[in-house]
Amino acid sequence: MSENKTFISLLFVTVVAIGIGVVIGANFNQGAEAANSNKGISPVETRARDFYAPNSEALGPDEMRLVACGTGMPTARPKQAATCFLLELGNGDKFLFDIGTGSAERIAALQIPYNYLDKVFLSHLHSDHFGDMDALFVGGALMNRQKPLRVWGPSGDTPERGTAYALDHLYKALTWDLDGRKGITDPRGYVRFQVTEFDYKGVNEIVYQENGVTIRTIPAIHSLDGPVSFILEWNGFKFVFSGDTYPNKWFAEYAKDADLAIHECFITVPALVEKFKFTPQGALDVGTQVHTAPEAYGKMMSIIKPRMAVAFHFFNDFDTAPDIERRIRTTYDGPLSLATDYMVWNITKDEIRTRMAIIDEDVWPPQPSEEPQVPDPTLRIPFSEFIVNGKYDVKDVIQPVYDEINEEYGLNEKQGQ
Ligand SMILES: [Zn+2]
Ligand SMILES: [Zn+2]
Repeated sequence: MSENKTFISLLFVTVVAIGIGVVIGANFNQGAEAANSNKGISPVETRARDFYAPNSEALGPDEMRLVACGTGMPTARPKQAATCFLLELGNGDKFLFDIGTGSAERIAALQIPYNYLDKVFLSHLHSDHFGDMDALFVGGALMNRQKPLRVWGPSGDTPERGTAYALDHLYKALTWDLDGRKGITDPRGYVRFQVTEFDYKGVNEIVYQENGVTIRTIPAIHSLDGPVSFILEWNGFKFVFSGDTYPNKWFAEYAKDADLAIHECFITVPALVEKFKFTPQGALDVGTQVHTAPEAYGKMMSIIKPRMAVAFHFFNDFDTAPDIERRIRTTYDGPLSLATDYMVWNITKDEIRTRMAIIDEDVWPPQPSEEPQVPDPTLRIPFSEFIVNGKYDVKDVIQPVYDEINEEYGLNEKQGQ
């Protein structure tokens, strides 16, 4: 991460420096003479960016943009959050596919108003695929998602293993959190999860159809009954996201000819033994039977032949990526991206452009897209008398803050008890 940060910082400094250089150049030397005078001083000229800067590029009406907001493993690391992909369509729709632990931070870095981040599709209920649901639910509502969070996810072989059960209980787990926000913030985003649970055994069944976008699911084979893969179609484009799965016949059939296909590709068995200290037996089981090994990933991609194959679900480092790619290349020779966090794909009919996003670590939440509702203070759940009596009297030092805000906004707010 620190190397990455240094690189990104340097890049930023360079970009700013180029910008300043251009402005200074324009001020001091006008016209073509100025451009010529630069020759021999610096080989750098202004040109299209090689990176994606969030909140700086409009999508074309016939374009899709995919951003990797989590590509790693259940074990947390700074460089890679757990599984999460954001797909943005040229019609304005945005879809989150899985929201694994750590991914909420990556989503925040994209500076998209939270009102637009209200649709999450869960491939299955492993925490590395939905561990940041609470962060999006609460943090998004706090920052102006003024509607319930919509979640689509599979049933299980029992009701307790289904998405509705998981989110019902997640909501219950947030009881103290949500009760404490009553009467303080705009309540509309906290009301509930709006869950659509669909049959995990559905084969190419539609689970979503709005605004020209159709999303279907197929079963996946992973850990227990329940996981699924998603197929999204819009505007003649086909996008597929495997979630976690052993290679399966449904993906081979229904993911064919995708414009972009994300399929899991697990860390190699030797790396599981050497780096994760798995037993060889455990590594073989997890690395080839519970998940898709790189060789099997390549085989699946050779069958479905996407315009771009995206591999994720491994620690993508200088010493792991080459062996993963070598193994994939034993069975697949088409276009390939070894995903890491903040990788970005722009997809049009003519081209798929792959870049990295440059992130502002100091980012604040984006501006609300709708006017926030003033909270109703009568909805507050009061403290007990015991706790109220423990308050230290700091009213004299707080009063100037009230005076300042009342004057600035023409209010008459008074300190409570
Ligand atoms: Zn999983
Ligand atoms: Zn996983």
